Amino acid sequence: MKLFVCVNQVPDTETKVKVGQDGKTIDRSEVNLILNPYDEFAVEAALQIKDKSGAEVTYVSVGGDSHKEVIRKALAMGGDKGILIKAEGISDSSAIASMIAATLKDSGADIIFFGKQSIDYDDAAVGIMVAEILGLPSASVVVKLDLDASGKKVTCEREIEGGRETVELTMPCVITAQKGLNDPRYPSLKGIMAAKSKPVQDLAAPPADVLTEVTAMRKPAAKQPGRVLGTDKSAVPELVRLLHEEAKVI
Ligand SMILES: Cc1cc2nc3c(=O)[nH]c(=O)nc-3n(C[C@H](O)[C@H](O)[C@H](O)COP(=O)(O)OP(=O)(O)OC[C@H]3O[C@@H](n4cnc5c(N)ncnc54)[C@H](O)[C@@H]3O)c2cc1C
Repeated sequence: MKLFVCVNQVPDTETKVKVGQDGKTIDRSEVNLILNPYDEFAVEAALQIKDKSGAEVTYVSVGGDSHKEVIRKALAMGGDKGILIKAEGISDSSAIASMIAATLKDSGADIIFFGKQSIDYDDAAVGIMVAEILGLPSASVVVKLDLDASGKKVTCEREIEGGRETVELTMPCVITAQKGLNDPRYPSLKGIMAAKSKPVQDLAAPPADVLTEVTAMRKPAAKQPGRVLGTDKSAVPELVRLLHEEAKVI
């Protein structure tokens, strides 16, 4: 069985993101970059299948050389090899999806895993676009996953508003992982050492149309500072007046 996991590199969740000087991109200069957290659930899902069946797990990332760090991080968790599709500064989800689809078209993939979304640009689009381009069945925001004994079908539980939905997919298929699917393992020291010698192939980016262009990016307006009206019950009448006349919430 061949499993592929698409992994993205994103700013650390602790980072205070700044808009770049061009007003269109995130300033990555002082940003600690990490493996996209949702992709860790996808990595773990693939590794659990590998643990049971010996499946081959390959990580795929589209980006510059720094994306090798997230491939190595995933390889330190487990898995066999990586592919870096070399493309810098691509902002368009459909272009990223086209490149992944072109690379995996004839790969013999049984399951292509994604995170449900990248936590930087939040499109939640790439995985489903890859499924569409390759004409594969897909399940998004998956929180539970079971392979049947024949190894031909996958049963997934999806998180939906107020509940869960169970869907069955025929392989090959695409799955996007949601928080709760599993508890991603930590890379062991042995895993980190082993990852250094696992093969990571550089591929030139296949041609892809860029369909959308980011023209501006801005942070939300700064919040007004809070006001202390008093520290005892004498402040209540003024609080009520402000809620009524200024905030107009009562
Ligand atoms: C304005 C702008 C500037 C950008 N600048 C840069 C940059 O300087 N350097 C850079 O490397 N990227 C850059 N990107 C690309 C960005 O990091 C994403 O790869 C791309 O936008 C897809 O993110 P998304 O929110 O559409 O992904 P989503 O659709 O939310 O991602 C869903 C899943 O798809 C997979 N996935 C997404 N992106 C990739 C990827 N690149 N490789 C492999 N799997 C992926 C992951 O499994 C992810 O969990 C930029 C994007 C924008 C919008």
